[in-house]
Amino acid sequence: MSIIVQKFGGTSVATADKILRAARRAVDAKKAGNQVVMVVSARGQKTDELIELANEIAETNSTREMDVLLSTGEQETIALTAMAIHSLGEKAISLTGMQMGMLTDASHSKARITRINTDRLRKLLAEGNIIVAAGFQGYDEHGDITTLGRGGSDTTATALAAALGAQMCEIYTDVDGIYTTDPRLVPQAQKLEAIAYDEMLELTSMGGGKMHSRSIEFAKKFRVPLCVRSATHDEPGTLISDETPYDIPVVSVALVKTEVRVTLSSVPDVPGVMSTIFAAMAARRIPLDLVVQDVGQDGRAEISFTVPQDELADTLTAADEAIEKIGAGKVTHGTNVSKVSAVGTGMQSHAGVAAEMFGQLAERGINIKMISTGDIKISVLVDRDQNADAVRAVHEGFKLHQLSNHIRRDKAKGPSHLDDLSQAEREREVVKKLAGMEDIVVSDVHVDKGQARVSLHNIPDSPGIAAKIFSEIAKAGIMVDLIVQNVSQENKTSITLTVLTSDAERCVQAVEKLKHTWPQLEIWTDDDIVKISVKGIGLRSHTGVGEKMFRALAEVGVNIQMVATSEIRMSVVIAKKDAEKAQMALLKTFELS
Ligand code: ADP
Ligand code: ASP
Ligand code: MG
Repeated sequence: MSIIVQKFGGTSVATADKILRAARRAVDAKKAGNQVVMVVSARGQKTDELIELANEIAETNSTREMDVLLSTGEQETIALTAMAIHSLGEKAISLTGMQMGMLTDASHSKARITRINTDRLRKLLAEGNIIVAAGFQGYDEHGDITTLGRGGSDTTATALAAALGAQMCEIYTDVDGIYTTDPRLVPQAQKLEAIAYDEMLELTSMGGGKMHSRSIEFAKKFRVPLCVRSATHDEPGTLISDETPYDIPVVSVALVKTEVRVTLSSVPDVPGVMSTIFAAMAARRIPLDLVVQDVGQDGRAEISFTVPQDELADTLTAADEAIEKIGAGKVTHGTNVSKVSAVGTGMQSHAGVAAEMFGQLAERGINIKMISTGDIKISVLVDRDQNADAVRAVHEGFKLHQLSNHIRRDKAKGPSHLDDLSQAEREREVVKKLAGMEDIVVSDVHVDKGQARVSLHNIPDSPGIAAKIFSEIAKAGIMVDLIVQNVSQENKTSITLTVLTSDAERCVQAVEKLKHTWPQLEIWTDDDIVKISVKGIGLRSHTGVGEKMFRALAEVGVNIQMVATSEIRMSVVIAKKDAEKAQMALLKTFELS
């Protein structure tokens, strides 16, 4: 018999009526011949209320006690939901994290799932019960209650679906699917019929779509199809699976309103610096984003990255520790920034996507403060008071309000990745060997020797500069791979990018035209470089990947010139002479042959 997991978010179980409606859905699925597992969140704003209450008692509280407290929200809902199913004449049983065998590590408030013992679950299902499982919670090896982090019920649901081999995991919520951007921000946002795991992974990691990003990791790792749909009506939702049905470069735009930027300046440009920084952050499980390193000038480098605002205090402590270890440098930060990201697998086959995005922002007079790109995403940092404008500009620019015009007519759905098939195969092999369900999946180390680096320095920091540069490059028909722009110093900024070696000269010619407008512009190129990447699933949010990668490179004395992070690939640019030892070191570290 097929198993269906149905997850209901807080707003979808907020009142007695809504709980009864959710119960009816589960009963219907059972009557249709399925075994059903429900996963429910705390009702309405319950979790927030409990946090506020705790804050009234003390400013900081033990994370262990916070977990005991917050888990009660879900415990209330499971009992009420089981009662609702009973009232409809079906068998149901409520289970807390411990009762369902949801074993996690001991990191309270951010626990990761290690194993799910499904024996009892299978027995209860076989006896005809609808299982009502508490989302967001588990227990550690000491028997202490843990929670998975805010929004973690999505992860409970996909993890249960993966462990039970469910046919489908349905996510019922207060919108009828995943939209091209948050519909509260852009009313013209369109519902996506489907979205690829990789796109959804980047989207949630970049703050869009609102699902817990680890839930998408589970779905991709264990190939669980997910469907996000409305709890209140029966419209088909958004299917999240291997494929994307759209033939456009960008499918969704995400926003993190309260991002902050941290810069470590005047650090020595030598091997080991990035490793020290990532290690300090990983020790606190802080995932870094928009990591940008400026090509060293006078033997000094400047490294910037962004983190969510609620991680700032921890991040600054960790950054100070890193500086102390490195022995030089200073830490500064900026809080008045937001992060806007455009995501789409189609970016890999469309030229000029970055130029287009920067152009849209320039037209509205929005200054870009930092840039970082991945295979399927472009992220920029903008002023906070311009964030909504920026999202609208990008959404409109990529014509996402006319999404339905871009469905592939041939119906031949492309793979979510160009090299998807062999990559998927390698991932499956790694997943089979995992000890813990949320362990890191790194499946490949890839060396790209065909790239050259072009860096532009002394650019005046004003709106439209990135647009000017990348429109010149796009006009020359050159595909750009990585792009980074560091935060400006003394009103000057620099942008570094990589292109195919064979395009490097033409790229320089294209940007040289800009010297008319910016006489002080300096352009450097270097084709003695390689881009080396590790590929896998959930690489950015598993802070350990960056730490391991940079440690391995530091140990063999490899200096890092550029960094690009994403959930599916972490890339660095290094000197060509270091390619082989870097590759060997990474293969060894990640136990790949
Ligand atoms: P739940 O309580 O069901 O887990 P959440 O509040 O966590 O629901 O997430 C649903 C909300 O996410 C929606 O109300 C919507 O405003 C917001 N959201 C943000 N970005 C998107 C997007 N791209 N598509 C759909 N919803 C989005
Ligand atoms: N109740 C938890 C929260 O509000 C978990 C969840 O809703 O997914 O974060
Ligand atoms: Mg949620």
